[in-house]
Amino acid sequence: MNDSSANRSAIDRHDIAARLARVHERMRTAAERHGRDIGDIALVAVSKTKPAALVEAALAAGQRDFGENYLQDALAKIEALATHDPIWHFIGDIQSNKTRDIAARFAWVHAVDRYKIARRLSDQRPEDMPPLNLCIQINIDDEQSKAGIAATDAPELAEQIAQLPGVRLRGLMSIPAYSDDPDAQRRPFAALRGLMEQLNDRGHTLDTLSMGMSADLEAAIAEGATHVRVGTDIFGARD
Ligand SMILES: *Cc1c(COP(=O)(O)O)cnc(C)c1O
Repeated sequence: MNDSSANRSAIDRHDIAARLARVHERMRTAAERHGRDIGDIALVAVSKTKPAALVEAALAAGQRDFGENYLQDALAKIEALATHDPIWHFIGDIQSNKTRDIAARFAWVHAVDRYKIARRLSDQRPEDMPPLNLCIQINIDDEQSKAGIAATDAPELAEQIAQLPGVRLRGLMSIPAYSDDPDAQRRPFAALRGLMEQLNDRGHTLDTLSMGMSADLEAAIAEGATHVRVGTDIFGARD
């Protein structure tokens, strides 16, 4: 939903099911328009800064995948909601002193842009857990201030990460520069898809494009997104 006046006020837990349903409807419409199977597109509900009660309401409405950016905030929710067995995705920047908890508590990490971080996650992944699913963050528009590596550096990093036993390189993630023009939104997503195809031509078996948020999920689905990361349109605006 793009009703920013509704987004500005706090979201009640009773609103969550309807807001999730609207996001699913947008995803379904975009998938149909572009000949995609909706079963190939996962919704990661981005619950950063939002209380566990709202996440619990989303779980009750059938949502399984949740994205978090801040480790301390996430750990409290992971603890509180453990019995519901959600799938946790770490989607924020990672400092090296946080890798141990991330490796132990999350199923996915979306924003790796350094070998050192990937190696620590691999080393610290508990042995009784399956390999940690990992995406490389690409600075697809080459913006100065942005996290992520340049597309030209992706082959080397992918090669290095693919050797690590505790992680499984699944694909690429990006947060393009904001645009409200649908055609302009598609360009960086198409570039990310092209980069994944290039890496697969070199022998990788990547199957994940983590791209698209509240404002541009349709454009991302048009270009092959397998994971859209939606916060505001589910849980309301953040402070
Ligand atoms: C906050 C965040 C999102 C969600 O953005 P919305 O615009 O609120 O949907 C998605 N991906 C990342 C990496 C984020 O940090």
